[in-house]
Amino acid sequence: MKKKVSIVIPAFNEATNIPKVTEAVAHVFSALDYDFEIIFIDDGSTDASANVLRQLAAANRQVSYILLSRNFGKDSALSAGLSKAHGDAVITMDADLQHPPTLIPAFLEHWENGNEVVYAYRESKNEHASRMNKVSSGLFYSIINNLSDLELEDGISDFRLLDKKVVDILNTMSEDEPFFRGLIKWIGFAQKGLPYVPEERHSGRSKYNTRQLTKLAIRGITSFSTKPLYIATYLGLSFSLLSLLYIPYIGYSYYFGHTISGWSSIIATIAFFGGLQLMILGIIGLYLGKLFMQSKQRPHYIVKESNLS
Ligand code: UDP
Ligand code: MG
Repeated sequence: MKKKVSIVIPAFNEATNIPKVTEAVAHVFSALDYDFEIIFIDDGSTDASANVLRQLAAANRQVSYILLSRNFGKDSALSAGLSKAHGDAVITMDADLQHPPTLIPAFLEHWENGNEVVYAYRESKNEHASRMNKVSSGLFYSIINNLSDLELEDGISDFRLLDKKVVDILNTMSEDEPFFRGLIKWIGFAQKGLPYVPEERHSGRSKYNTRQLTKLAIRGITSFSTKPLYIATYLGLSFSLLSLLYIPYIGYSYYFGHTISGWSSIIATIAFFGGLQLMILGIIGLYLGKLFMQSKQRPHYIVKESNLS
């Protein structure tokens, strides 16, 4: 019996891209000796995506879909897809054809050679990304790597193959706001990274802006490390040690009677430490917020409609 590969594709307003990516994937598999299925997760699209999916699934037995009740974010959409993917291997990719399906045979080859995870990372000499984009992406990964206990390649993507074993493990995790790029590294097993050059987005616009990328970076850091809390502690400690040096100066001023001077330095110090304290409170708050969200145990996504049982 042929092995089965499930392709999981989150889609948010990708009506024109959905048929294209289906075609491209089917084309790649026509030359391969595997069964395949494609599971689209519509992440609360407001365009015609839902209808496109219903029609596509009716006409094509390899295509299934899950419609979420609203936009839950890409990682939650991926969770929904992984929970319904029953292939011996699962490949996750974007709907906009930036992840070239032509890389799939290489994924499968490395999987057959014993890698439980095969992932693609963007090659640094990537012609399609703007300068600004490259800088912000580089910054994104270097901040995550420095502040968390992970080693993520610059440009590691959500284009990857997962062995059934790994998918089963991911499905048992009920982490609030999963950050798959980090979670999968954390799981371990034999992992293989392949460089790739992303294509231009086929149509539509990117759903991520700087604000969302910042949020994603904070999620990546706070999900994997308590380092910011340590940094806050050390920062507080060093400043209180430093302030001890001030005591001899206070004694000196008192003795020589210029106690009124130093108004500007007091204001500057108050402003600086006020800001520092607020920032540190904010860091503590971030972690507290995570605990709060997790304690409510809400589902990570809600399915509105699906042609899968
Ligand atoms: N996506 C999603 N939910 C979201 C945002 C994006 O399912 O809230 C999907 C989107 O349809 C695409 C993939 O995630 O298939 C990557 O999104 P996008 O191409 O906008 O990101 P970029 O390539 O710019 O990083
Ligand atoms: Mg894209």
